[in-house]
Amino acid sequence: MCLFEPRMQIVATARAALEAELKTAVREQQFVLHYQSQVDVRGAITGAETLIRWEHPALGLVSPDAFIPMAEETGLIVPLGRWVLRTACEQLALWSTQPQMAAITLSINVSACEFGHAEFVDGVLSVLEETGADPSRLKLELTESLLVYDIEDLGVKMETLKAAGVGFSLDDFGTGYSSLSRLKRLPLDQLKIDRNFIRNLLVDSKDVAVTRMVIALGESMGLNVIAEGVDSEEQRNALEQMGCFSYQGYLFSRPVPLLEFEGMIGRTPESRTGPDSAVAAGRFVN
Ligand code: C2E
Ligand code: CA
Ligand code: CA
Repeated sequence: MCLFEPRMQIVATARAALEAELKTAVREQQFVLHYQSQVDVRGAITGAETLIRWEHPALGLVSPDAFIPMAEETGLIVPLGRWVLRTACEQLALWSTQPQMAAITLSINVSACEFGHAEFVDGVLSVLEETGADPSRLKLELTESLLVYDIEDLGVKMETLKAAGVGFSLDDFGTGYSSLSRLKRLPLDQLKIDRNFIRNLLVDSKDVAVTRMVIALGESMGLNVIAEGVDSEEQRNALEQMGCFSYQGYLFSRPVPLLEFEGMIGRTPESRTGPDSAVAAGRFVN
C-alpha cells in the first residue's frame, strides 16, 4: 500500500528548490560575513565572531539557521566553510597592516562534518599560508557534537592546527554531549557558555549553577571562558561577579557588516551603542 500526502510533496519540492538555490549561491558566492564584537572586562573589543548571511538575490539577507542545516546535510558546507575561512583570513591579513586592527582575533564557526572532512587540516594550513594571516589571530569554534567522532583522530587534527598557532573555542558549551573525560584530552583555548544559559541567568538558579560550573571548569583547565548572548548590563555584571571576564552579545553589538565593525574599534564603549548599530544589524527576512 502506498500513501500519498500532498503536504509531503510540497515540503519535498521546497527542499529540492532550496538545495538547488544553495548550490548556485555557493558557486556565485552570494554570501557575506557579519562581525559580532567580543569584549573584555573593560569593554574593549578584542575580537569578533564571524557570522555568515546569504545575500539572496530575491529574498534579501537570509539567516544561517535557514540554510546551514541543509548545507551540512548536502555537503555544501565544505565549500561554504572554505569561503568563510578564506574571507576571514584575508581580512586578518589586511588588518595586520593597520595598527588599530592588528590585534583583533576572528572566531569562525566550523561544523562538525567540516572538521571531520579528510582535507580540513591541510585546507586550513594552506589558506593561512596563501593569505599570510597570522594563525594566532584565528580561532575555530567547534561544537560538542564533534566529540562523538574518533577522539584520537580529533586530537591529532587539533594538535596539528594548534602547533601552527590556531586557537580553539568550544561553542554552545553545556548543550551537547560533553563527556568531560573526552573534553580534557582536547587542546582547547576557550569555552563558550551557550546563550541559552545566559538568557535567564538573572531568574533561573539552574542556569546560574551551570554557568558557575562552566566558569570553574574553565578556570581549572586553564581555559578562557566567554559568555555569548549577553544582552543586558545586569547579565554582564552577574557574569563578572562569577568570574567570567569575556563577553559577546547585543549589549555590546549585534553582528554588523565589516565597515561598521571596523568603525567601532577605537571608539569608547559608551559611544559604540547608538541607534545606527541596531539599524545596520542586518535584519533577516522571515
Ligand atoms: P552560534 O555560533 O551560536 O552564533 C551565535 C548566534 O547568537 C548568532 O546568530 C548571533 O546573532 C546570536 N546572538 C548574538 N548575541 C545575541 C544576544 O545577545 N541575544 C540573542 N538572542 N542572540 C544573540 P546567527 O548569526 O543567526 O547564527 C546562528 C547560527 O548559525 C550560529 O550559532 C552558528 O551555529 C551558525 N553559523 C553562523 N555562521 C556560520 C558559519 O560561517 N559556518 C557555520 N558552520 N555555521 C555558522
Ligand atoms: Ca559560534
Ligand atoms: Ca554559540
